[in-house]
Amino acid sequence: MSVKVKSDRILKTNLKQDDEIIVITGATKGKTGKIQEINRKNAKVLIPGINMVKKHRRPSQDNQSGEIVEIPLMINASNVMIFCPECKSGVRIRVQRVDKKKIRSCHRCGHSFDKK
Ligand SMILES: [Zn+2]
Repeated sequence: MSVKVKSDRILKTNLKQDDEIIVITGATKGKTGKIQEINRKNAKVLIPGINMVKKHRRPSQDNQSGEIVEIPLMINASNVMIFCPECKSGVRIRVQRVDKKKIRSCHRCGHSFDKK
């Protein structure tokens, strides 16, 4: 007897760290960047230079006047697509299993995003 596990709450992403991506929606649409960090739990990605927010830093002993620093906020993985250097655009990922390894390639041209 098998037990069905509800997994629709787990958000999945095929993206990995260091992937080149393009933003497909929102204020930063069209921007490209490299994924620095992935939060797999809630399918969010951190891309330096994208979705920067200004934070005010309180004055401290070393810094009397305080300062404004820009830090990147994580964005939803569903707002970005992997960027294919061959197609020069954001593309869908096709996943193939080769020797139990997942190989991700471009849905359109077959360009491999993973080293074999
Ligand atoms: Zn391609």
